Amino acid sequence: MKTYQHLFFDLDHTLWDYDRNVQESLSELFLYYKLEELGILSSQSFIESFYAVNFKLWEAYDKGEMQKDELRSSRFPRIFEQAGVLNAAIPEEFEGDFMHRTSSKPHLFPHTIEILEYLKPKYKLYVITNGFDESQAKKMSSSGLSGYFELVITSETTGHKKPDPRIFHYALDQAGAYKENSLMIGDSPISDIQGAQGVGIDQVFFNPVGKPIHLRPTYTISHLRELEDLL
Ligand SMILES: [Mg+2]
Repeated sequence: MKTYQHLFFDLDHTLWDYDRNVQESLSELFLYYKLEELGILSSQSFIESFYAVNFKLWEAYDKGEMQKDELRSSRFPRIFEQAGVLNAAIPEEFEGDFMHRTSSKPHLFPHTIEILEYLKPKYKLYVITNGFDESQAKKMSSSGLSGYFELVITSETTGHKKPDPRIFHYALDQAGAYKENSLMIGDSPISDIQGAQGVGIDQVFFNPVGKPIHLRPTYTISHLRELEDLL
């Protein structure tokens, strides 16, 4: 096994439990804005509509077909439409409220802090994320992650999204790292695994849900504690 010195982590769905945090804030919004009165049956159906729309919008954003502002402004109108509410009078602050509540949520994947405590004395740790600067910083502070990382590299700051090689080169450069002594840990076959492979960085595919993958990651784990066996 190579001697790694620099570990680059993805944030959403790898350390920060995106699904749990998002679902909790959508359930709160459902009650707070009394969405039942608009005809949405349950918080569960609201969550399903969110996923149906949000995934497509992020796909378009990842491909560069949609900008941040457009994603933010069109998201909830489309979600309400998907939920069967036509011409809904959506409160103006809805998107902002959603972002605020979600990024303030603290839930991490099991044993995240323990594994970071284990790794921190031995390696330099970084985050590379396709999220937006402000929300990623807030997520990290509300979940207690901020103190573990030397640097947080976002697609917004670098102007390039994973799997674009330029964000990885930027990260290596900023970290003073080499591809040979670096390791990328993430849950996305395309953004994280294909992205790191493209620049010759070894990868750990974090796959807690048994997602299919057509690439061969250097390592695959289903639980973060397995990193202790590798590192
Ligand atoms: Mg991810």
